[in-house]
Amino acid sequence: MHVTAEIRSLKGVGEKTASLFGKLGIDTIQDLLRHYPAGYDTFRDTVPMRELAPGMFCAVRGVLTGGIAARKGGRLTVSTCRISDGTDTLSLTFFNIPYLKNMIKPGETYIFRGTVSGNADTPKMEQPAVYGVEAYEKLRDTLQPRYPLTGGLTNHAVTKAMRQALSLCDGIDEYLPDEIRQYYQLTSYRESLEGIHFPENEAMLRQARRRLVFDEFFLFIVRLRKSRECSIRIRNPHPLTETADTVRFLERLPYTLTDAQKRVWEEVKADLQGETVMNRLIQGDVGSGKTVIAILALLLTVANGCQGAMMAPTEVLARQHCESIREMTAAYGLPFRPALLTGSLTAKEKRECYRRIESGEANVIIGTHALIQEKAVYRNLTLVVTDEQHRFGVRQREALAGKGMDTHVLVMSATPIPRTLAIILYGDLHISVIDELPRDRLPIKNCVVDTGYRRKAYRFIGGEIAKGRQAYVICPMVEEGEMEGLENVTAYAEKLKTVFPRQVQIACLHGRMKAAEKKRIMEAFGKGDIDILVSTTVIEVGINVPNATVMMVENAERFGLAQLHQLRGRVGRGKEQSYCIFVSSSGAEHTMERLSVLQKSNDGFLIAGEDLRRRGPGDLFGIRQSGSLAFRIGDIYQDAKVLQEAGEAADRFLKEGAVSDALEQAIASPVDFRSI
Ligand code: ADP
Ligand code: MG
Repeated sequence: MHVTAEIRSLKGVGEKTASLFGKLGIDTIQDLLRHYPAGYDTFRDTVPMRELAPGMFCAVRGVLTGGIAARKGGRLTVSTCRISDGTDTLSLTFFNIPYLKNMIKPGETYIFRGTVSGNADTPKMEQPAVYGVEAYEKLRDTLQPRYPLTGGLTNHAVTKAMRQALSLCDGIDEYLPDEIRQYYQLTSYRESLEGIHFPENEAMLRQARRRLVFDEFFLFIVRLRKSRECSIRIRNPHPLTETADTVRFLERLPYTLTDAQKRVWEEVKADLQGETVMNRLIQGDVGSGKTVIAILALLLTVANGCQGAMMAPTEVLARQHCESIREMTAAYGLPFRPALLTGSLTAKEKRECYRRIESGEANVIIGTHALIQEKAVYRNLTLVVTDEQHRFGVRQREALAGKGMDTHVLVMSATPIPRTLAIILYGDLHISVIDELPRDRLPIKNCVVDTGYRRKAYRFIGGEIAKGRQAYVICPMVEEGEMEGLENVTAYAEKLKTVFPRQVQIACLHGRMKAAEKKRIMEAFGKGDIDILVSTTVIEVGINVPNATVMMVENAERFGLAQLHQLRGRVGRGKEQSYCIFVSSSGAEHTMERLSVLQKSNDGFLIAGEDLRRRGPGDLFGIRQSGSLAFRIGDIYQDAKVLQEAGEAADRFLKEGAVSDALEQAIASPVDFRSI
């Protein structure tokens, strides 16, 4: 069996299972092998009952003291029992396990593993996993992969398929040059796949992960450099000349630009008027006012009789930009003739849109990256702006080059990247930084709390809603059962409906929803028809709903500080005071300490740096730092050193250019970054 074979070729994977795998983006065995665990279950020593605290995920050893009481309520059978470790007791609740009586017997000792609930004095455990003493001993200190799942597909099923794939498959060939592998002491590709899925110990896992992260960065950088080779320092075919429009626009704006915005606008203007084509990245913290710079650049472009395009990563965001450009055009009498081009237009609407683009009737085109990939033919596209760019502009540069266009490229990003790393990732892209927030902002008020604070938080959110404001609640998972001990959007939204009065509108949003559905929800939230939006981190990107004043993040300990900072950028965008509540389900002191950095600073760069400094080598998994720079496994903060090495290796490799076929293939195959 070859790695390129369909997932169905595995034993035990039928049509139904295959379609479940398909939902996770896994069609071939190769895809499966790249479906890395999201974490590992470590079966640690059991914890004495007196040390239990709500929110802790742990194993407890105890004797079943009495019988099992079962009661039926509707379709639910609830069984309760009590265990003791000699000094303390713990009550357990199980749902719909009718055969529990056959599983555990009074007087016998078992290990129960789950999340502690209740309060500190009377801890409880709901639906814990049950192990015999010997069975648990066997698992102790091993690392069991925990895969991202989807409803109907169990971790066990993925694990089984993975074992089969690894043992039966050929075509898992080494493609990195020996020289590079030896120099950076990287394990072989096959070993690293085995090590990431089924590590025998932590050292093996670390080695495996390092190699796979290296691959990802290395291939990314090589691709990036190759695609840029031809596009850098292209003569500027249409140097723009300054017009009165931008000056007039700035005079009419209700605010004056910050000094940082002024400086960056000068830099962008100089590029557009200069000798070579612009290739510039604007980095600015959330809320620093990047959009207005983009609009100025587009304005200069259309005032020169050329077309400009603005790309956003999501339809919702594209729509939002288009709306605000339309409003400004009307309010300030700007020469924009906007068109919105997104995937959800009907065929007829698309045709009309293409016609307006080709004829030049539309001079500013806003949309998703469909803008430059689809059949759109531009009359004279001169500038492409990319907002909240995840992918460093590689794809569109390639697409543009493919269309034979020497356009100016302006990339805007809110992800704070230390300069040294930015240089590796962006190569010779010029970088401008907006390092100042508008003066009239009220700083967001933050608090870091444990799960015991939830009730208070809900009351607070209720108060804000009564004042006419809106709230976000962020959960790390989409649906039940994806990962033990983590809150999921679907169940959480249901739970909130029982907490808040009926008139409070609650909806959920996540990446697995259909585009049209996401759009509907976001629009309803934007209009204020939804009061509380329970969402995964999909809302992290650029959304602007100034009326939302509260953000509550569940399982905050699972996010990197830089990502939490991005998330909180969704509030504090209007005139009202905004609040952020970070709920940690681990009361561990170092976790609370780490999260408290967010309370002390509002500076994205500082926060990213602090996080990096604090993180020990033990925190390898589970926390993704750079939310929007979604590599599959690598993390530019956490793996900064590997990134540096990969950058170095890529430079050497490109100079010497000893390319094997396998490597050539790896470079050519689409890089699959994945947003979470
Ligand atoms: P981001 O950098 O996160 O994309 P935006 O461009 O969306 O930020 O700007 C956030 C808000 O700040 C917008 O409502 C915008 O009108 C406003 N804004 C931008 N620049 C200034 C400024 N110099 N003074 C006051 N408000 C500003
Ligand atoms: Mg923005």
